[in-house]
Amino acid sequence: MIIRSILLRQLLNHVAIILFMALTLLGTVLYHYYAVQSNSGELAGRIAGRVKNIAVFLSEDLKTGRITDREWELASQSTGAVFWLEDSEGRIIKGTRPDLSYDNVLKIADSAEYSQYFLFEIGMPNACMITVPMTIDNKPGRLLAYYQLNHAIVETLFRSYSFPFLVGLAAAFLLALLLSQKMTRSISDIADAARRFSAGDYTSRARSTAEDEIGTLGKTFNAMADAIFHTQQTRRNFYSNISHELKTPLSCIKATTEALIDGIAVNDQERTHYLERVLAEADRMTRLVHDIMDIEQLEAGKMFIRQERLDLAELLLQQADTIELLLKKKSLSLLLRIETDKRYVLGDADRLAQVLDNLLSNAIRHAPPGSQIGLLLTEEAQWLQVSVSDQGEGIASEDLPLIWDRFYRVDKSRNRSLGGSGLGLSISRGLVEAMGGTIAVESDKGKGSIFKVRLLWKK
Ligand code: ADP
Repeated sequence: MIIRSILLRQLLNHVAIILFMALTLLGTVLYHYYAVQSNSGELAGRIAGRVKNIAVFLSEDLKTGRITDREWELASQSTGAVFWLEDSEGRIIKGTRPDLSYDNVLKIADSAEYSQYFLFEIGMPNACMITVPMTIDNKPGRLLAYYQLNHAIVETLFRSYSFPFLVGLAAAFLLALLLSQKMTRSISDIADAARRFSAGDYTSRARSTAEDEIGTLGKTFNAMADAIFHTQQTRRNFYSNISHELKTPLSCIKATTEALIDGIAVNDQERTHYLERVLAEADRMTRLVHDIMDIEQLEAGKMFIRQERLDLAELLLQQADTIELLLKKKSLSLLLRIETDKRYVLGDADRLAQVLDNLLSNAIRHAPPGSQIGLLLTEEAQWLQVSVSDQGEGIASEDLPLIWDRFYRVDKSRNRSLGGSGLGLSISRGLVEAMGGTIAVESDKGKGSIFKVRLLWKK
């Protein structure tokens, strides 16, 4: 039979253990009992000692002939034996003879001398009889004790242990139930959270986050829920950003074209001016669409990135040529330094060019006219590092971790007018990491920024 409920399974486990322990305990006690029984002679001897003590204890009162009921009760309770007092004629003075089916027991007792202490064991059921000579009312008499060993032992056991045993057993069951419930409650809590989450409640989280295995499961679920929530949020933002980014150039193209149709341009020169604006917006849209495609591919892990040996120094020289015009437009100077003999790295030349292009155009965009752009190649342990630096306004430390996010712009209005979509750095990071490298930034607000790309050096 398969038990489907963990609560039940757990409870059964606990109960099985409790029963096993209880049976072991019972077994130990029974073993002890039989061990004692098999050594009943010794026990009988001990009881005889106790009966003698009682005889001494009672003898003072017997001289006067009176024993209070309280004393009598105490005496029989403390030994667990049946007592009675007889005078020399065999008349019972105090107590009652036990109703014994073993007549011969009493016969043996009767045959005992009144003047001597007498202990004899009776066969099954283990019992013993003790007679102690005493002086009663100045006449000879005797104290008799009948003691049934197994009866006494079992009774003592039950009397002293059965209640705590049952209470203990009940407490153990209760504890087992509570423990099992506590565990299954945590599991149900996580299951509930997962159910609500899958039903669309993305704020649903598990409350069971204790420092145990189930708590870890709860925490893992919560972390997963956070990640999914974040992805959902990002995706939603992504789509709204895309539409927003496309809307601006589209409305510009539409308005300009309409104006042209309406004959806004008075001459060819003006017409060319408006058409150039349309073209620039179309280019911007094309760039955006390419960027989005790059992002999508990087995210899906589908972008094809070559891992080949490429000459990084050569690539930097080519980049320097490419940006010459842009530099000139803003009267910027470029300081290109190659400070290592090593030249080769593992990577994709076209994609690396795209990364450097992004970093250099950012640097140019943010550099104040007349300042200097740095392009530096160094070696750092097993890496070759390209640093792109500018003396621009820098990036505030609270913005630093965010610039890698898609569509993130520090100064939204200004950057849009400058043509940035906020996707460049996100794509750059994706590309460099896909090549097994790292990209990082250091920036001092007001002093400038340095972007550092590291790729594995290849002989
Ligand atoms: P964008 O297309 O807007 O440049 P990027 O992803 O390349 O998008 O950059 C994200 C943001 O990081 C930029 O909008 C800009 O605010 C900031 N940033 C990037 N490079 C620099 C730089 N060299 N100096 C100052 N800020 C920069």
